[in-house]
Amino acid sequence: MASVELRGLTKRFGSLAVVDNVSLRIDHGQLVCLLGPSGCGKTTTLRLIAGFLEPSDGEIHVGDRLVSSKAKTLPPEQRKMSMIFQSYALWPHMTVTENIVYGLRLRKIDRATIARKLEVILKATKLEILAQRYPGELSGGQQQRVALARALIVEPETLLLDEPLSNLDANLREEMRFEIRRLHDEYRYTTVYVTHDQSEAMTTADLIAVMNAGKIDQLGTPEDIYDRPQSEFVARFIGASNVIKGTARDDTHISFAGATLQVVGAKLAPGQSTVVAIRQHDIQLSIQAPQNRQNAVKATVTRQVFLGASRDYMVETPDGTTLRIVTSTETAVPRGTEVWLTLPPERCRALSR
Ligand code: ADP
Ligand code: MG
Repeated sequence: MASVELRGLTKRFGSLAVVDNVSLRIDHGQLVCLLGPSGCGKTTTLRLIAGFLEPSDGEIHVGDRLVSSKAKTLPPEQRKMSMIFQSYALWPHMTVTENIVYGLRLRKIDRATIARKLEVILKATKLEILAQRYPGELSGGQQQRVALARALIVEPETLLLDEPLSNLDANLREEMRFEIRRLHDEYRYTTVYVTHDQSEAMTTADLIAVMNAGKIDQLGTPEDIYDRPQSEFVARFIGASNVIKGTARDDTHISFAGATLQVVGAKLAPGQSTVVAIRQHDIQLSIQAPQNRQNAVKATVTRQVFLGASRDYMVETPDGTTLRIVTSTETAVPRGTEVWLTLPPERCRALSR
């Protein structure tokens, strides 16, 4: 069983903890995304798992083997892992086939077995007709598939991918996300997938670990992370959320900008200052006062942009909070207009951090 478990994993460069006491368990056959902004420690975590770096503290276990600790780090070639780098790192002087089987030749596998495995993997990655080409004769997406085939043919226990789609153009990137998920469903390798792209993580992952400044801020399914963010960082980073600040009146209501809002999420204590997230497209904007004043707040339009499929508003509430709102295109409300905002209670999520 190739589960991968990080326990208190820490990597310091000088005095800075770039990976800071990270604990995470990835079950056998699971695909976990490390998602976070540039510089938050994703690649460093992946290189620690691969064995290219030694931890400053903490441990990495694969199945029942301890593979990394401060005292001892097993070298990459003894870990039964394949890593795919951002740049693919294909050998330009070798054909697609030669690139793919290179790892098996190194392991002195017999010719008949290599031929059999090659046939299967070429088919799975849809590279059959390109088998005799050189990398220079392939598109970015095709090179990406060669890198995947080369990583998969050695039948690793664990697959590590570092921003594997970042060199592709937007259309291809979208297609390859589904491709990676399809291959994962077929082969079920324990996989750690690093990306800064939210929709890439949502499409591919069983579980997403959102990273911020060397720590895992929240771990959950794509639905958890998107619908139930627990921190201001996750609310802002995952999908477009406004963050408002108010004071708790009781365990489910806050005062905000002269109004009372009913909220869901974290349990509140009266008097506590409270941060609430609400998505841009969940706020309703109207010129007339709504009949039901529950969760209604007054505001003034400060900007309005027509985007074809939607309108993008910036409004300001009486306490000086700026909110961004995405609406359908029917409502065209000019700058300076006083409006009412309705913030549905079930969409107002009080954050615990
Ligand atoms: P990410 O992949 O999330 O963009 P990295 O793991 O590459 O982030 O880097 C995290 C931080 O660690 C960055 O601030 C980076 O500059 C720093 N860093 C990475 N490698 C080294 C190194 N070998 N020496 C010093 N600092 C490093
Ligand atoms: Mg990186």
